[in-house]
Amino acid sequence: MKRFLAILLALCVFTAIVARRQCSVAGGDGAIVDLTILSTTDIHNNYMDYDYFTDLPTERFGLLRLATAIREQRAQNTNVLLFDNGDNLQGNPLGEFLARNPPRNGEVSPIMALMNAMSYDAMNLGNHDFDFGLDYLNAVISGAGFPVISANMIDANTRRPYFRPYAILQRDFRDRNGRLQNIRIGVLGLLPSADQLLE
Ligand SMILES: [Zn+2]
Repeated sequence: MKRFLAILLALCVFTAIVARRQCSVAGGDGAIVDLTILSTTDIHNNYMDYDYFTDLPTERFGLLRLATAIREQRAQNTNVLLFDNGDNLQGNPLGEFLARNPPRNGEVSPIMALMNAMSYDAMNLGNHDFDFGLDYLNAVISGAGFPVISANMIDANTRRPYFRPYAILQRDFRDRNGRLQNIRIGVLGLLPSADQLLE
């Protein structure tokens, strides 16, 4: 059974959270596959549980802490997808440091090393991911082990999408009867309007 599920990643919101949605895909043969969709957004360089503005450890945020919650979700649910919704590359002094020391000669950015280790399925770009310029953005996402997508960032010269506009993920997921079902999941990424990009 091949099922096509279109997921539209929401635009940038303002708090770093992990959101959880559950949905089901039904096939003509009656098979039902339950999906758990997890998404992070607006990480803004908060990878460690450390506040770089106060220079103190914190328990309030940190992608590493979310990684624990995400691992628990993967353990409790069979068919899990994990997306990031952008505004990841900018936001605190660690981000400034990383941008001044970009990955070179095929190095993988620590940001992507972390996200690869967490097995993200796809990443959408946010307006602040452009704050350090396209060269840095491209250097960072070249290390992604998952699709990085943006459908409405248009190359001024070619008039075509500058980044990969969408991805079709193919996954073997278990239906409610425990049978493997091959599912294709379409993922589309969108940026906020142009005036939010001009900073
Ligand atoms: Zn943001």
